Amino acid sequence: MTKTLSVAAIQHGTVIDHINSGQALHIIRLLDLQKKNHKVTIGLNLPSKRLQYKDIIKIENHVLSNDEANEVTVLAPLVSINIIDNFEVVKKINTTLPSHIVNVFACPNPACITQSEPVETYFKIETHGNRVNFFCRYCEKSFDRNQVSENIK
Ligand SMILES: [Zn+2]
Repeated sequence: MTKTLSVAAIQHGTVIDHINSGQALHIIRLLDLQKKNHKVTIGLNLPSKRLQYKDIIKIENHVLSNDEANEVTVLAPLVSINIIDNFEVVKKINTTLPSHIVNVFACPNPACITQSEPVETYFKIETHGNRVNFFCRYCEKSFDRNQVSENIK
C-alpha cells in the first residue's frame, strides 16, 4: 500500500484538516487569508474516513492564534488544527466553539436592523447535538451554518 499526499506537505506553518467539504473557501475568507501574504494551499473534496469528504487548508510560515482557531470551529466543528515545524506536527491547537461571534457574518434576514443600521452583527452560538445555530441578537432569528457561511462580511 502506498500512501500519497493529496496536498503537498509544508515545512513550517498550520494545517487545518477535517474541514466539512464546501467550507474551506469560507474559512479562507473568515481568516482573511486571501488578503495576506502567506502561501496557502487548499484541497477540496478529499476522501475522509471521518467526514466522507473533507477540505484541507495548509498555511505556510504562519501559526493561527487560538481565537482564529476557535472561529474556524463555527464553520467546521470537527476540524483539527496542527502546527507544523520541520514537516512534523509539533502541536495540536485545542479548539472550543465560541459562545458568540461579533461582526464576522452579516445577518441573513433582510429585515434585520443590522442590514440598514451601522451596527456590528452579534450572533449567539447555540449547539443542538451536531448542529450549530447562529442566533441574531437583533432580529432574534436562528440560522444554520449554511445560511451564515455565505454571508462573511
Ligand atoms: Zn438579524
